[in-house]
Parts: sequence; C-alpha cells; structure tokens
Amino acid sequence: MALRFFNTYSRALEEFAPRDPPNISMYTCGPTVYSNAHIGNFRAYIFEDLLQRHLETRGFKVHRVMNITDVDDKTIRGARETKISLNDFTEPFKRAFFEDLETLRIKRANEYPGATEPRYLARMIEMIAELIKRDLAYQAEDKSVYFRINKFPEYGRLAHLNLDELRPTGRVRSDEYEKENIGDFALWKAWDEEDGDVGWDSPWGRGRPGWHIECSAMSTTLLGDQLDIHCGGVDNIFPHHEAEIAQSEGVTGKKFVRYWMHCAHLLVDNQKMSKSLGNFYTLRDLTARGYSGREVRYALLRVHYRVPLNFTFDGMEESRQALTRIDEWLERLREISTTISSEAPGAPMPNAGFQQALDDDLNISGALGVLFESIRETNRAMDANELGAIAAKAWLQWWDEVNRALALDAVETIVLPPEIETLAEARRLARLAKGWQKSDELRLELNARGWEVRDTKDGQKITRRVGPEP
Ligand SMILES: [Zn+2]
Repeated sequence: MALRFFNTYSRALEEFAPRDPPNISMYTCGPTVYSNAHIGNFRAYIFEDLLQRHLETRGFKVHRVMNITDVDDKTIRGARETKISLNDFTEPFKRAFFEDLETLRIKRANEYPGATEPRYLARMIEMIAELIKRDLAYQAEDKSVYFRINKFPEYGRLAHLNLDELRPTGRVRSDEYEKENIGDFALWKAWDEEDGDVGWDSPWGRGRPGWHIECSAMSTTLLGDQLDIHCGGVDNIFPHHEAEIAQSEGVTGKKFVRYWMHCAHLLVDNQKMSKSLGNFYTLRDLTARGYSGREVRYALLRVHYRVPLNFTFDGMEESRQALTRIDEWLERLREISTTISSEAPGAPMPNAGFQQALDDDLNISGALGVLFESIRETNRAMDANELGAIAAKAWLQWWDEVNRALALDAVETIVLPPEIETLAEARRLARLAKGWQKSDELRLELNARGWEVRDTKDGQKITRRVGPEP
C-alpha cells in the first residue's frame, strides 16, 4: 500500500506524492522562545519526528526546517520585564529547547532559522514590498502594514472558513480601526513604546515583522517556493497557516504546500492545560518527577496525532510498563539469539505490519498493536522453547527497523548535573579503594539530592529517584 496522509487542506486522506522523490521538503513551526516549551508543544514535535523517521524508513530523504520565533509580543515583554536585551532573554530558552529535543530523542532539523537573523528580515521586507506592489497589502494610518484578505479569494480555504464571517458586523475593537477589514493581519508592525529598543528599519519606518510573515520568509528562503509537507499544531491552522498561504502564494503565484498536516491538542486530566489550573507541565517538570525522556516520548507518541491526547500520570505509568515489556522481551531475544537452540517450524516470524500501519496516515495505535501482539506471540513461543536463535535474530532485526521510527531503545544517556557528577565520581573512586563507609556516605548524599545509585556488574548506575518532587 502506498503512503497516505490526511491533508488539512482537502480534509481527506491523500496518497503521498512529493514533488521530487525521494527528496522531501518539510517545514514545521517551531517554538516561541519566551519560556520552556510545554508537553503540548512537544506532542506536536514528536508527531513531526515520527513522520520524518517513518518517511526515512520508507526511503525518502527529508530536509526539514523548523523556525525559532525570537521576536514577538511575549519575548519583547519578557525582555523588558527582566531588563535585558531581547537576545539575552531568548538565549537560555533556545538552549533549553535543544536540550529538551535531545531528551525526547527528537531528530535535529536540518536548519533552525531565527526570525531576527538579517537574511530572513531582508526576505520578509522583500516579500512585504512585493505584496504591496500587487495590491495585496497596504500601510494603514497606524504605520503598520497589513495583508488585504479581500484581495486573496482563497483566504479561509485551509481552515474551511467563510470569509464573510471575518467581516466586521457592527462593533469593531477600537484598536483595529485602522484596518480595512477586521481579518486583515499585520505583516509589519510599526514601532511603539512597548517595543523599547527592539526594531528594524524598513521602507515603512521602524518596526518589526508580524509572526506569520516570518514563517513564509524562512520556509521559502530555505526550501523554495513550494513545500511538500508543512506541519504544526491545530492551533496554527488559523490564522497562522492561512496567513502563510496568502503571503507565500501572494508573492510567488505558486501553490505553497502540498500536504498540510496538523497535530491535535493535548489535554491534561481531560482539561485544557493551563497554569491557573495547576495542570501545566514542561518536560522538565516531568523529568524532575523521575520520568525519563523516553517514557515521556512514549506517552506523547502512543496516540494517533489527529486524536486529542489526554495526558495523565496513570498514562505515564502505563508508558513505563509498556517500555519495561519491550526491554524484557529484547533481553530474552538477545539471550536466545546467542544460544544454540533448535528451531521449531511453527515459531512466529516478523512481518511488515508495523510499517504498513504507519503508511496509513501514521496509524501509531495500529503499529503499536502489531508490536505488542508480536511480543505476546514470541513470548509465548519462548515460554514453550519453540523459538530458536535464528528466529530470535530475525526478531531483533525487526526491532531495529521498528525502532528507527519509534526511537525507544533502552539505551539512554542521562546528563548528570555537575555536582552529582562529582559525587558519583568520588563514590566510584571510594569503591575502587574499598572505602565502603565512604561509599555509603556518598550514596546517602546522592539520595538526599534526589538521585538513586545502583551497583551493577558494569559499575554504578545513577538515576533520578522516582516519585513526586521532595
Ligand atoms: Zn509558522
């Protein structure tokens, strides 16, 4: 079966046919770096990661770009409130974002353009000028430049909105009076006092780009006028992606994106995640509770991307158990694969069901169903001594293929904070010198700081203590 994906634009499952196979251009809207990304954001990034990995197992070469929004109302406000430059304010959040990607085993994109880089600002200004020339944009009295949605008949197609619904129906917010149409969105925002020292010169005066034009400029600069896949969360569909289409197609006159793919919401305990409800989690909140990156990855991966995911701590426990089942199964297979054992003719052998499920609009539930059914069957065969070394090796090879998409192998590199690293090293040396009392003291010290020590035949293993934060 060929690959097929649900295209938000047509609201239908479509056979996947990129413009220039096996090459695929893929653009994904990235984080706004004013705080640490939350697990709802990471759900979308993990969906995009699964998509890329599956395309790669199917032989495609994916070139992926993810933007970093480092200038907008929130970043400017954050910088002003902390009284530091915009760059100094966003830098630690950018760094944290890349660390989090690592923790969650999300493949690095080929490029991470930042909106404030000169080459992209130049492209934004060039695109806005072109839109004005084509009568698709205008400068209003407030000196900001807006896109004229009435002149772009396709506006609303992606979100399946009726343009008439966007027309003012009487009362118009007082701060919107300069615009011709309430739905017109800003391409260039004129500088005002709130912006402080943030601003760039343009043909329309000092100001800063609107959020939507950032993505149009960065995607077309790095991937060309036409992209194969554009992803994001469902929140991005309107107005952000709608605006991206209008701007990009308004400038190039070519169809901007072949396949629009959007990830559904994440709920926590069946409620919208919000700080005021106390159910707001960043990745760091979860690792501080003792969950590993791979456990969080599994929990965010296991539900089909178009279905809302309800995050719960019971779900985290289920994820932990599921991974333990995989680990124990692999351990058994590895053991059998090195023995000389007889092959039973009826032993279960791997099939292509896992990848076929993912071919069908990334049906992860179906794919995981195949995985766990395989585990059940092979465990049964191993219990009955009916699975020999040849079959075990075949299953291990099968797992390698499966794991290319899942990235859930047990091998996990934990980055220890420096002070924990020092204590761990001291303990290792104490044990080497047979200083057992010293070694026990250091173990207690590590425990007190929230870390667990296990002595194995390969040396000591340090893990975060499981459970709620002390
Ligand atoms: Zn975007």
